[in-house]
Amino acid sequence: MTPKISQFLADEQPATPCLVVDVDEVEDRFRRLQGALPLALIYYAVKANPARPILERLVSLGSRFDAASWEEIRLCLDAGASPDDISFGNTVKKVSAIQAAFAVGVRLYVFDSLEELEKIARYAPGSKVYCRLLVDNYGAEWPLSRKFGTTVESARELMLHARELGLDPYGLSFHVGSQQLSADAYEAAIARVASLVTDLSATGLDLRMVNLGGGFPIRYRDDVPEIEQFGDAICSAMTKHFGNALPEMLIEPGRFIVGAAGVVSAEVVLVSRRGREDGPRWVYLDIGRFGGLAETEGESIRYDIRTQHDGGAVSAVAIAGPTCDGADIMYERSPYVLPDALAAGDRVELLSTGAYVSTYCSTRFNGFAPLTEHYI
Ligand SMILES: *Cc1c(COP(=O)(O)O)cnc(C)c1O
Repeated sequence: MTPKISQFLADEQPATPCLVVDVDEVEDRFRRLQGALPLALIYYAVKANPARPILERLVSLGSRFDAASWEEIRLCLDAGASPDDISFGNTVKKVSAIQAAFAVGVRLYVFDSLEELEKIARYAPGSKVYCRLLVDNYGAEWPLSRKFGTTVESARELMLHARELGLDPYGLSFHVGSQQLSADAYEAAIARVASLVTDLSATGLDLRMVNLGGGFPIRYRDDVPEIEQFGDAICSAMTKHFGNALPEMLIEPGRFIVGAAGVVSAEVVLVSRRGREDGPRWVYLDIGRFGGLAETEGESIRYDIRTQHDGGAVSAVAIAGPTCDGADIMYERSPYVLPDALAAGDRVELLSTGAYVSTYCSTRFNGFAPLTEHYI
């Protein structure tokens, strides 16, 4: 929690549930990542938080953007981004979205299948394309594997085919999974990409770009390696495998840029035991799985929670949301403790919730309005 956010919450006591994001912190994170990976071009993954003040700040810092839909492209353009600085980074795109993107000047597209490549060739002729490889997501707390990426063998064929289709076969990409705690994952993926680049080069096709995706982790309840460690590991892996012929490097950070810049302020609706004196207390908040905390599914992302009673005696709790859905439980298996003094009406803060919360919010499930957002 930044001093600016603490001050805002104390002064304004905004209605809960709400998300407060310190946009200066977004800028600091962007600069820090730039410092850790000075050779990489940063394409901010818009899906992490597409709020206008964030996009505008990033435009002013010279960021580029990784967009997943026509709607996200529109948001970037409205915030002042140039179409040259936008990558249409979803391997699954509607034809109408490709047409709209091409019409405004977007010329960089990803694919991981013949079928998508053919769509791009037809509706975005001549564009730069890159192929997403399937890589191991081991070590990621929020894996993205299985749904995206293709094998090295098929990527090889598809990149050669891209040239025949009149496209510009630009490079390769991967995503090691979100909240990736191990730099080894990037090293292994870079080795995989490099072998394919070398192989294609022998057939006369020179790829010019490697897109390392996102995945850079932030601190929730536990420490994570510093971003500089990832930067160093990536840099040495790139040099080891490419020598002096370094390709352009792209990265697509989402969580790292905005996650730690935001705090959710929520209200305790009920603390109860429901007749089971030996079990944990159940703490029900006015935000839950449907109110934006979708990444608590499988208890994958475990947010750090602050209360006004911190420092007092604590005991085990399960933590759930306010809706009538049985899936609306954030933490039941993970060891969470909260102060014994916690009571209905108290405000609590969920830290590092700037990424993947605001847009994961359902619109009116059970009548609950989406959380409000404050960008300060
Ligand atoms: C979600 C996503 C990202 C961002 O991932 P983070 O883990 O938030 O950095 C980057 N690239 C692609 C293709 C994605 O789908």
